[in-house]
Amino acid sequence: MAKYLLSIDQGTTSSRAILFTEAGQLHASAQQEFAQHFPQDGWVEHNPDDIWQSVLKTCQRVLKESDIAATDVAAIGITNQRETTIVWDKTTGKPIYNAIVWQDRRTAEYCSALADNDKKLVSDKTGLLVDAYFSASKIAWLLANVDGARAKAEQGQLLFGTVDSYLIWQLTGGREHRTDATNASRTLLFNIHQQYWDDELLTLFNIPKAMLPEVMDCSAEFGKCKPEFFGRDIPILAVAGDQQAALIGQACFDKGMAKCTYGTGAFLMLNTGEQALSSQHKLLTTIAYRLNGQVSYAIEGSIFMAGATIQWLRDGLKLINDASESEALAKKAGLDHGVFLVPAFTGLGAPYWDADARGAILGLTRDSGINEIISAALQSVVYQSKDLQNAMELDGLKPQVLRVDGGMVANNWLLTLLADVLNISVQRPVVVETTALGVAYLAGLQAGIFTSTEQIAQLWQCQHKFVGKMPSQERQALYNKWLAAVAKVQA
Ligand code: ADP
Repeated sequence: MAKYLLSIDQGTTSSRAILFTEAGQLHASAQQEFAQHFPQDGWVEHNPDDIWQSVLKTCQRVLKESDIAATDVAAIGITNQRETTIVWDKTTGKPIYNAIVWQDRRTAEYCSALADNDKKLVSDKTGLLVDAYFSASKIAWLLANVDGARAKAEQGQLLFGTVDSYLIWQLTGGREHRTDATNASRTLLFNIHQQYWDDELLTLFNIPKAMLPEVMDCSAEFGKCKPEFFGRDIPILAVAGDQQAALIGQACFDKGMAKCTYGTGAFLMLNTGEQALSSQHKLLTTIAYRLNGQVSYAIEGSIFMAGATIQWLRDGLKLINDASESEALAKKAGLDHGVFLVPAFTGLGAPYWDADARGAILGLTRDSGINEIISAALQSVVYQSKDLQNAMELDGLKPQVLRVDGGMVANNWLLTLLADVLNISVQRPVVVETTALGVAYLAGLQAGIFTSTEQIAQLWQCQHKFVGKMPSQERQALYNKWLAAVAKVQA
C-alpha cells in the first residue's frame, strides 16, 4: 500500500511540494520561487506557465531527491493562493492573459461603483464584501479588456479557474475542470448557503456560466495525473484554499476553534460549524471545508501587513539583516517606550477596510531607536490580531484557544505578547507546515488512510503553549494607545 501523501502548496511567491507520511509527519520538501509582475501601480500578475512549471518541477524534485517512487504516493492534495484568477482557452489550453493575483487592485473602481443594493446582494449570498481582492471583478476585467475574450467566452470556448483549477487542468492533461467549495467561496460568484454558482451574481458581473469549474467537496476524486509527469497516474484527492487548509492542518474541526497564520499577512479563521454566521463587524463569512456534502463555515479576518512589516524593517529601513533578529532586539526595548507603528502601507484590512489609510510611526522621542521601532512593528501584529478578536467578540464569538502557524511563529517574544494581549492560550504545533498538512490530511481521508476528522484531530500535537499573564489594566492601556494611533492614520 502506498505510504506517502504529496501536498502541492502553491503560494503567492513560491510553489512547494511536500511529502507527508501516513502519520502526518513531514518527510521531504522542495520549493521554487517564481517571478512577480507589476505592470502598473496596483497591478500584480503571475505567468500561469511559471506557476505550473514550478509545481511540476518541485513535485518531480521532491520525489527524486527523497528517492520515493510514484507508486508509494497514495494521493496528491492541492492548496493554493486564493482568489487569483486565470482564464484559458479550452482547446489550446493557453491562458488568454497572465494570472491576476489576489493583491491586484485594478478593479477597485469597478467594485466601488456597484450599486449599494447589488453590494448587499453579493454579501448576502457569498459572505464576502464586494472588493477587487476576489475573483469576479478580475474575470469581468479580462472579458472586457482582452481582445476577443468576450465573444469566445460567450461561445463556451474559455474556462475560468482559481489556481487549484488551473493545476488540476494541467495535471490531468486538460481532462478535468474542477475546483473545491472553499476556493469557489472566494470568487464572489458562489452562493455559500445553497452551494451553487449563482445566476444572479453571474448576471451582475456578466460572466457566462460555461466558464466555471465543477465544484467538489474538499476530499473528492478531482482526477488523475497524466502518467508521464510522475511515472504513474497519481490521483488528486483533495483541494482547499490556503487558509482553509491551515485550519484543517491545525485540526480546528470543532465549532469555536480558531487558527491564525502569521506569514506575509495574517489570517485569523474561526470555525462556526454548520452555521454561516454573518458578521456585523466587517469580518468575512466563508466555507471552512465541505466533506461528504456537509459544509462547515468559518469567520475570517485578514491583516495585510504582518511578516511583511518585518520584511520592510529588513529591506526598506535596513534595521536588521534577518527577520529572526527582531526577537532579541524587541526584547531589549520591551513595551514601555510609547512608540507605535501602524503598518497601513496598503491601507488597513479587517475590521477597518480602509484602503486610503497610510502607515505611520508615532510616539517617537529622543530615546527612541532601532529596538523600539522593531518592538513597535512586532506589537502591531499583536494589536491587529486583537482588533480581529474584538470584532469576533462583538459578533458573539469567543475563541478560548488560538492555534498559530506561519513563518512569524518562530518568534517567542511575539507569541508571548500575543497571549498577553489577547488573554488567550496561544498554541504552536509541532508541524508548522499546517497548510500543506491540511490537504495531506484531506487527501488521506479520501484515500482511506484516515477514517475521520476525529482521527486527524488526534494526530495534532502542541509544541508550545503560551499563556497570557499580563494584568488587564496594562493590556487595556497598551491597546487603547494602539487604537489612538490607528485613529490618527485613518483617512
Ligand atoms: P508566506 O507564506 O506568506 O510567504 P511565511 O509563512 O513563510 O510567509 O513567513 C515569512 C514571514 O515571516 C516573513 O514576512 C518574515 O518577515 C516573517 N518572519 C520569519 N521569521 C520571523 C521571526 N523570527 N520573527 C518575526 N518575523 C519573522
